[in-house]
Amino acid sequence: ATPTALMVGTGRGAQLGLLIRGPEVLESTRRIDTIVLDKTGTVTEGRMRLADVVLADGEDRKEVLRLAGALEHASEHPIARAIADASAEEHGPLALVADFANHAGRGVVGTVEGREVIAGRASWLSERGLEIPSAMVRAQQKAERTGCTVVFAAWEEKVRAALVVADTVKATSAEAIAQFKALGLTPVLLTGDNTAAAQHVAAEVGIEQVIAEVHPEDKVAEIKRLQGEGKVVAMVGDGVNDAAALAQADLGLAMGTGTDAAIAAADLTLVKGDLRGAADAIRLARKTLSTIK
Ligand code: ADP
Ligand code: MG
Repeated sequence: ATPTALMVGTGRGAQLGLLIRGPEVLESTRRIDTIVLDKTGTVTEGRMRLADVVLADGEDRKEVLRLAGALEHASEHPIARAIADASAEEHGPLALVADFANHAGRGVVGTVEGREVIAGRASWLSERGLEIPSAMVRAQQKAERTGCTVVFAAWEEKVRAALVVADTVKATSAEAIAQFKALGLTPVLLTGDNTAAAQHVAAEVGIEQVIAEVHPEDKVAEIKRLQGEGKVVAMVGDGVNDAAALAQADLGLAMGTGTDAAIAAADLTLVKGDLRGAADAIRLARKTLSTIK
């Protein structure tokens, strides 16, 4: 009877928009007590837009957007898309990039119109010996407190502008998190983004525990750390960066709207990209397994 009930549960899951890799997945779903959520594209829409450009002294917005936009056109990151789209809208066709390099979770670098242009997070630019003017650091902190992400554009040894990008929390996220809590799960927000922005988003949706500024290669270690504390961990994510953490988690859930890498690594896919599906999965697993015994 056990396998049959699990098969029925899996079929019921499909009706709920849950693609379950195999019947045995429901067994691990039932035991979950902690649910780790990626921020961008999972709790938020992941469709970012350029909200503001804060220029360093003497810089020209048009020039900044032209060069940064051309560089970011070579990247698929949601931040990059926001910058490239805004640039194309304001200035038309983007210049070509040579020697492009993507540094996951940090930023991008490439040659545009003969200049080596860099765009990325503040700490990465600092590591590369670039100094961010204090007025721009203040603008960054102000924007981050409202949940925005700030990246900096630089060329010829000088930081030229802060680019402020904004994302929107999904309409269903707060309700999903309330459902997780009602099921007795502890939600945790895990992101490569800055702490202030992560905390803003967490507060908006009702998450108390935040792990921010985690490099893509370190997301797995955070899952292992929680498991080491005895937690049974589900991880929900959408990005290429999330794939290893999804595989490490006791239950990996991918957003159906996410990347192929995340879907391939997951045990379960939320077809519609609706976080409430994760609560449906847990309820389904508990119900299915309580009828077997
Ligand atoms: P998340 O966990 O939100 O998906 P990532 O790990 O992909 O974030 O990126 C972390 C940070 O690295 C971003 O918030 C940004 O500051 C920087 N970054 C990553 N890719 C880019 C890019 N293409 N352009 C500028 N900055 C980037
Ligand atoms: Mg993401």
